[in-house]
Amino acid sequence: MSLVVVNEIKKIREIIREYKKQGKSIALVPTMGCLHNGHKSLMEKAHSIADITVASVFVNPIQFCPGEDYDKYPRTLEADKIVAQEAGVDIIFAPSVNEMYPNLQKFSDLTMVAPPYELTDIMCGKSRVGHFDGVETVVTKLFNIVQPDFACFGMKDIQQLFLIKKMVRDLNFPIEIIPCPLVREESGLALSSRNKYLSDEQKKSALSLSKALFSIRDLYKAGVKETKKLFDTGLTNLDKNVELEYLEFVGYNTFKPVENITETTICALAARVGGVRLIDNIVLEV
Ligand code: AMP
Repeated sequence: MSLVVVNEIKKIREIIREYKKQGKSIALVPTMGCLHNGHKSLMEKAHSIADITVASVFVNPIQFCPGEDYDKYPRTLEADKIVAQEAGVDIIFAPSVNEMYPNLQKFSDLTMVAPPYELTDIMCGKSRVGHFDGVETVVTKLFNIVQPDFACFGMKDIQQLFLIKKMVRDLNFPIEIIPCPLVREESGLALSSRNKYLSDEQKKSALSLSKALFSIRDLYKAGVKETKKLFDTGLTNLDKNVELEYLEFVGYNTFKPVENITETTICALAARVGGVRLIDNIVLEV
């Protein structure tokens, strides 16, 4: 089947209705575009589990905080079509902002879906206030529009994945969330659309983020369970041009801080390199 690009909600609803009539299952991969191999792995997963794969490409304004990179976020739909087609995507849903938020004068006029404060006042949510409200709201809208049986999310955005799983449970969406592994460059750098902003020099500094996480994993595997010690080792591996925002250890199933690792734990970080905000994480299995 060849790829189709749909911009209108009404149109994609018609197409989905037809597929549902035929008894076909649907998988959705929400993205903001500028697709790379990380996104592609989600699309390939979606294609392997459902009859029809829909990828959304939408730079969602309400998940950006004031002063963030909404305006300059790369928009590369033509190149995205090629990646999506290669991955077996059937439909790209690429609505305009006005299609998703018609006549919206200010975001505070919108009905929002908000995760609990105690799960957003940590890690990425702490500096990106309101970000996860914007994410949950747009994902809810996409779920209602596309009505998928499955939705694939990357472990790269580990806090987002946790909150989406919780939202689906809490609000009874009849959708199975499929977590997909974080994909890295061979160098270790986590793939991200924002890597495009990095100069060669900054990329070298950014490499120290995964290096720091891998040093933590090595020490953990050598038997160190105290996160304070693991934290200190991580810090020593960060390049001097890295401005660390957080490096935290939280339970994989709880997102509560972990001091001694007795449950599977996420070690996640966010940092700025030359003003570019990057995130990365590893899972420390018990
Ligand atoms: P984004 O376009 O950045 O909003 O990401 C769309 C989806 O792709 C999210 O579920 C991300 O977690 C996922 N994703 C982005 N980068 C990666 C990566 N390097 N590995 C795996 N998944 C990723």
